[in-house]
Amino acid sequence: MKLILLGAPGAGKGTVAKLLTKLDGSVQISTGDILRGAVAAGSDLGKQAQDFMNRGDLVPDELIMGIMESRLQEPDCASGFLLDGFPRTIPQAEQLKVLLEKIGIKLDMAVDIDVPRDVILDRLTTRRTCSNGDCQEIYNVKSNPPSKEGICDKCGSPVVQREDETEEAISQRLKTYGEKTAPLIGFYDKEGLLLTVNATSSDAVIQAIQDKLDS
Ligand code: ADP
Repeated sequence: MKLILLGAPGAGKGTVAKLLTKLDGSVQISTGDILRGAVAAGSDLGKQAQDFMNRGDLVPDELIMGIMESRLQEPDCASGFLLDGFPRTIPQAEQLKVLLEKIGIKLDMAVDIDVPRDVILDRLTTRRTCSNGDCQEIYNVKSNPPSKEGICDKCGSPVVQREDETEEAISQRLKTYGEKTAPLIGFYDKEGLLLTVNATSSDAVIQAIQDKLDS
């Protein structure tokens, strides 16, 4: 599978991507995870990205394209990839198209996971994330809490609220999504690659993707 996952923050792109990796060995590539890992490690990339991220703004396209140009050419991508959180602007989508042509890769589709705004807001304010940059397991205080409060089941590190998951940053992220990322839906529709799924359950999203791939 070579898929792009589109959808607002909290639509479930990461959860769907993780489930899809189990089906056929495709790798999940989350630019948000890569950037948070860089911030946690204190690398140059992390230092450049941190302020944009904490405000809920996008990091500059050049920075993201630099990361993705090399990431997509790593050997594990040959068996398929699920792009989670990239591309996020029209210039990123245009540059991705050129890059994929250059390296001879054809996308299967771009999936827009369309979830109502009230569900998104509820999910983002109750989401918690493992603070270990190499783990970043996701929990939810209501629907999926860690078995020991505040401690990651997988690695034992503290589970925290992301710095961009304050009410102010969430509303900025949703605004940024509407202005910069939502136009990608039209972009991929024109490319003949768009699949829109209106579903709040990740299993239903996976089913719709599989049905489309089989058709
Ligand atoms: P979400 O989809 O829940 O908002 P992500 O983990 O995908 O969160 O991204 C977190 C932050 O990382 C974004 O708000 C943005 O600052 C930055 N980011 C991630 N991917 C990109 C991208 N493709 N282009 C620009 N900024 C990005």
